[in-house]
Amino acid sequence: MKNSMKVEFMSKSQNEAFARVVVASFASQLDPTIEELADVKTAVSEAVTNAIIHGYEGKDGTVSISCRIEDREIEIIVEDNGKGIEDVEQARQPLYTSKPELERSGMGFTVMETFMDIIEIESQKDVGTKVRMVK
Ligand code: ATP
Ligand code: MG
Repeated sequence: MKNSMKVEFMSKSQNEAFARVVVASFASQLDPTIEELADVKTAVSEAVTNAIIHGYEGKDGTVSISCRIEDREIEIIVEDNGKGIEDVEQARQPLYTSKPELERSGMGFTVMETFMDIIEIESQKDVGTKVRMVK
């Protein structure tokens, strides 16, 4: 089976739940287990939250999600045109956060790595961030 979709929405925290549900709904055609679906929702939620709070830092912007299904695999790309990540290796470290004052725990990328099989981060300062995840 092969299928794809793309959605775009404003960088508002209300849209985190929307993003989770829309991806889960698309992924459900793979007949995932409840656990697999929960993993995908958690990973999407982390990536979208990052785009909103770190990428745009509360400013208005657009977050996009592209999904592709091929055979039993789903690829999810979450993209923003926000401030970008200067040091991706550092950002991926467990417990690293640039916003400890917001009580972030620095575990978002670690969670994505735990729940998805592949995660790739492409980012450029002042251009934006693209997170590709596969399960
Ligand atoms: P938590 O996810 O546990 O609430 P966190 O968001 O700080 O905390 P991660 O999700 O692992 O932790 O992200 C690590 C760091 O990478 C962030 O603190 C931020 O500096 C940077 N980062 C992540 N995503 C983006 C993004 N889309 N745009 C800009 N910076 C980002
Ligand atoms: Mg995070």
